[in-house]
Amino acid sequence: MRLEGKAALISGGARGIGAAIARRFLIEGASVVIGDILIQEGQALAKELSQTDANITFTPLDVTSESSWADAVALTIDTYGKLDILVNNAGITIRELIENETSESWDRIMEINAKGVFLGTKAVLSEMKRHGNGAIVNMSSSYGNIASPNSAIYGASKAAVRLFTKSTAIQNANLGIRANSVHPGPVNAPLIQEFLPFPEKIRLLESMVPMGRLGQPDEVASAVLFLASDESSFMTGSELIIDGGINAR
Ligand code: NAD
Repeated sequence: MRLEGKAALISGGARGIGAAIARRFLIEGASVVIGDILIQEGQALAKELSQTDANITFTPLDVTSESSWADAVALTIDTYGKLDILVNNAGITIRELIENETSESWDRIMEINAKGVFLGTKAVLSEMKRHGNGAIVNMSSSYGNIASPNSAIYGASKAAVRLFTKSTAIQNANLGIRANSVHPGPVNAPLIQEFLPFPEKIRLLESMVPMGRLGQPDEVASAVLFLASDESSFMTGSELIIDGGINAR
């Protein structure tokens, strides 16, 4: 198993891509804590997964709160004895033209998508340094690398994640702690499922992807698994693009 004996904390793990990562990590032998503001969904997922695997715990986590991160990290260490892997997955988006955006939406998106990654990273570093071992995987987006037609603030927040990841990587490169980012294109998960009632919007999204389809949460989970595992032991500060070819254009 590829994560045998490792303990992982996954933010935004109650549903979507985060839930797919949690399922995958469990199959590969990890102990998993999922943290989310969606308490009912998170508890239900942990209950479902604990029927086949005991090593899963849900904790309420608001990634914008330093004390909430401290609680989640303490719970992970208390429950599983350590914390080897952090997946900063929680994120939100708003699709609007810049002139229709508000100062409040800038603050909210940046607070969750960018500050949340900073606070999560800050919260785990001392534990990872103590063990001289750790893997941090940050959820950026293909729109952290290229411009999106209608999500300028989202793109700015995911570009911030991209470079913050590289700074985390070089600051900790000789301490046994690796940090890498993943950059999915459109994935059939809640963030874009608001489009699903509108087939023409889905077709438009698909037409932007050279492979001509949306990605699946499990396809992102595969990349996160690789970066979280020792198979990527010489990778840090890297960005793994999982977007059906969008960035290759
Ligand atoms: P999602 O909405 O299911 O996932 C986001 C999760 O984060 C949810 O469970 C949500 O409750 C949680 N969350 C939101 N605010 C939070 C907070 N303050 N504290 C803790 N948790 C919070 O959607 P998803 O598609 O699974 O997205 C997961 C990640 O993947 C996001 O970072 C998103 O930006 C990124 N991403 C998604 C796509 C896509 O097409 N779905 C593409 C590229 C990147």
